[in-house]
Amino acid sequence: MRVNITLACTDCKQRNYATKKNKKTHPDRMETKKHCKFCNRHTLHRETR
Ligand SMILES: [Zn+2]
Repeated sequence: MRVNITLACTDCKQRNYATKKNKKTHPDRMETKKHCKFCNRHTLHRETR
């Protein structure tokens, strides 16, 4: 059920995080607020493939 995903900053489009998610709890594209070192602040990160 656990799949590997990549989180990309929605501001600068950089892929900053590689993580895992549970397909059951997040069947759709996941969005999380995380710190982007390129923007140097917290931005919304979206799941990419
Ligand atoms: Zn960014």
